[in-house]
Amino acid sequence: MSKFGVMDYAKACMDEHPSKVKRDERISREEIRKLYDLPLMDLVYRAASIHREHWDPNGVQMSTLVSIKTGACPEDCSYCTQSSRYETSTKYEPLMQVQEVLKQAVAAKESGSNRLCMGAAWREVKDGPQFDAVIEMVKGVKSMGMEACVTLGMLKEHQAARLKEAGLDYYNHNLDTSPENYCNVISTRTFQDRLDTLEAVRKAGVHVCSGGILGMGESREDRVGLLHELANLPQQPGSVPINKLMRMPGTPMADAEPIDDIEFVRTVAVARLIMPKARVRLSAGRVEMSASMQALCFMAGANSMFAGDKLLTAANPTQDKDLAMLASFGMNVEVKAYQDEH
Ligand code: SF4
Repeated sequence: MSKFGVMDYAKACMDEHPSKVKRDERISREEIRKLYDLPLMDLVYRAASIHREHWDPNGVQMSTLVSIKTGACPEDCSYCTQSSRYETSTKYEPLMQVQEVLKQAVAAKESGSNRLCMGAAWREVKDGPQFDAVIEMVKGVKSMGMEACVTLGMLKEHQAARLKEAGLDYYNHNLDTSPENYCNVISTRTFQDRLDTLEAVRKAGVHVCSGGILGMGESREDRVGLLHELANLPQQPGSVPINKLMRMPGTPMADAEPIDDIEFVRTVAVARLIMPKARVRLSAGRVEMSASMQALCFMAGANSMFAGDKLLTAANPTQDKDLAMLASFGMNVEVKAYQDEH
């Protein structure tokens, strides 16, 4: 049996990594369960109604993701081809030069993206020349009038403060799954580590981008638990990526059972209902979704997506295909920056 065989999924890790965060809940797990259990048409209708109160229902925000440092990551995230622990086709690429990243930012802007997300396969940020280079990348992207987002692993408060000073808009750090399921996915950092990084980001005044991955063998209750954590963060994330697991050869999750399409749509709808002011982003896995499925996700409240034919190491629909799809829905790519949002 693989590392993630059926028995392993039954393991719960709350006792190992109890959340230190005790807070007043905005919404309980029971309330989230009830939303999930609504008839699909009622759920999507309610989500679409809330969406219309807060957002343009025909608008979608596009971000471009650039892998600024690829592979050779010491972490063991079981879905990721960049972990050095698995035999995958991903090749190590050192940190890109600042000018090369800025060239890609220009191309992204020209093709309609208003946000450049820069991802480095690091366990954590280390102070030094490489972090200095990332600071320059953020400054460069901002000077083009684009939003800047980075995902660099765990982060300390003084590093978050430097990123803020450079103009960073968003820091991405996903919770991935529920606290109970977390140790079935990653063993090299805890759920609490994730919450601590998000706390450092919030303290610096940088917007949080945090979501999860569906189809990692988790239960409905794990999806409820993930959304419960996100919605009850001290401040709800400004951006919530909902990924469909890309089952990558060589990773322990290469043979995971795919998430059911309707369950995916339900998760988007519940995320929209309980985090009405967040951008809910369709992230990895769109390459495996039909246009009809994506339309249903937009109806259910998704209003952001990644552009470009590659998402770090996974395939993504081409920009032409995406633009044609959006045109067939009569949807527009939004160009306004987050400052104009909520
Ligand atoms: S998801 Fe990020 S931290 Fe985890 S193995 Fe991949 S690159 Fe490393």
